[in-house]
Amino acid sequence: MNVMANDMSRLVSGARSFLERDQKLLIDGEWVESAGGDTFDVIDPSSGEAVAKAPRGNADDIDRAVRAAAEALNDPAWRDMQPSDRERLMHRFADVIEAHAEELGQMEALDVGMPSLIGQHAEVGNVLATLRYMAGWPTKITGETIDIGNALPEKRFFAYTAREPVGVVGAIVPWNVPLMIAMWKIAPALAAGCTIVLKPSEVTPLGALRLGELALDAGVPPGVINIVTGFGAEAGEALVAHPGVAKISFTGSVATGKAINKLATDTLKNVTLELGGKSPVVLLDDADVDRAAPAIARGIFGNSGQVCVAGSRLYVQSGVFDRTVERLAKEARSLKLGPGLHPESQMGPLVSAQHRDRVMGYIEAGLNEGGEAVAGGKSVDGPGYYVEPTVLVRPPQSSAVVQEEIFGPVITAIPFDGPEDAARFANDTSYGLASYVWGSDVQRIHQLIPRIRAGSVFVNTSPFPHPAMPLGGYKQSGIGKDLGEEAIRHYTELKSVMIGLN
Ligand code: NAD
Repeated sequence: MNVMANDMSRLVSGARSFLERDQKLLIDGEWVESAGGDTFDVIDPSSGEAVAKAPRGNADDIDRAVRAAAEALNDPAWRDMQPSDRERLMHRFADVIEAHAEELGQMEALDVGMPSLIGQHAEVGNVLATLRYMAGWPTKITGETIDIGNALPEKRFFAYTAREPVGVVGAIVPWNVPLMIAMWKIAPALAAGCTIVLKPSEVTPLGALRLGELALDAGVPPGVINIVTGFGAEAGEALVAHPGVAKISFTGSVATGKAINKLATDTLKNVTLELGGKSPVVLLDDADVDRAAPAIARGIFGNSGQVCVAGSRLYVQSGVFDRTVERLAKEARSLKLGPGLHPESQMGPLVSAQHRDRVMGYIEAGLNEGGEAVAGGKSVDGPGYYVEPTVLVRPPQSSAVVQEEIFGPVITAIPFDGPEDAARFANDTSYGLASYVWGSDVQRIHQLIPRIRAGSVFVNTSPFPHPAMPLGGYKQSGIGKDLGEEAIRHYTELKSVMIGLN
């Protein structure tokens, strides 16, 4: 498979001048050196070359950032800001981001490897939609009055509940859609009146740093958003352990989520965990295969399969198995691979050499265990970390390639007989993030939906995270939800007030 060449001359001036600047940490509204003065390289996965250096924040930097966030939380400029002014500020932040959408899309191409047009329109589009949706909440966060009447003999009460900001939020995010996931944390935190310390992935720190600059341009007060780039074992753990942090909002792998949950227990933090997935796609025999195949392909090959809700396990009812697999393989073979900055790229490289090798390890194991690659199956020689879009047919249900999250452009396809088998197969992993059903019989589909143990069910569509729809996992895919009103609840504490009236 051929890969198109990279061309840095396509960078818009905003992206170019950002890359020329020395990157620093954002603490208390100022750009500062990391305490240790160390940096790390940021690698463009389409070439394997370093495009920037980011500061390597450590526990001292986290401590400075948390203190700044704690002060900002109690600063009247933020604490007493009218909800309608907070709403206006969030819309202003969205306007500034929108004006820089192309540049941010290119940043994601360099950081993650995704096609920059997808970065600009799909990812930054979702960033904007999330920020604007959450901007509607500051004026609508309410408690309730509760009639407890004469709760004690001869004593009457007025009782109510109030929602208050949970406090300083530590947000730790992954590399796959870094701007979008960062905004899934920042926007509800701002809406609820919290302050935040964001720790982006060490693999993709650039977009978050640019987002910090845009936040200051929009007038977000000092200390409300702080950004400390660095590694999980240094900056990440220090943030989770810090006693000044009230809540950890984490998105990333199951293993890290479990480690964070344990560490956060020492200070009994409020924790939400959005973790990995191995999402099933169930295609019933009355599905429109020609419509389903391109959508299933988008759902697994989009962002090179580095998507938490990617539909990575296809189960097809026997009668339409061969036709579906053939259509899907055709979609896989037709994709143009290339660097994110090339306007014709449909699928970029994987994020790193290490990740490419990990994905190839799964493909080889799947082939050794009896799967057949009807499309792809190989990595691509040359610069950049490309793996072909791969369709693996009939690997055993118990094999690693079916059971474990690969986080690459690899889909397995297994036939099933009746809907009972579909539900059994769909639920047969430790994950429960998303799921997909394709079919046309509404009754059959509705019977299947409650049987699937997953946080989201998408019917006759590829994945589509909408800011009003809560997103989060069942089972080992996580605890709590991002997005929707549910996210606002997670960024507030509920206070009960009882006032004796006599
Ligand atoms: P990761 O768990 O390796 O890292 C995520 C973040 O945690 C990074 O910022 C990292 O520096 C930090 N970290 C690592 N070790 C830490 C520690 N001990 N303490 C504190 N922080 C630590 O995950 P990744 O490889 O960056 O991302 C891929 C994973 O993210 C996949 O499993 C994917 O499914 C998941 N993901 C889930 C969702 C969702 O909404 N459920 C969305 C996107 C990605």
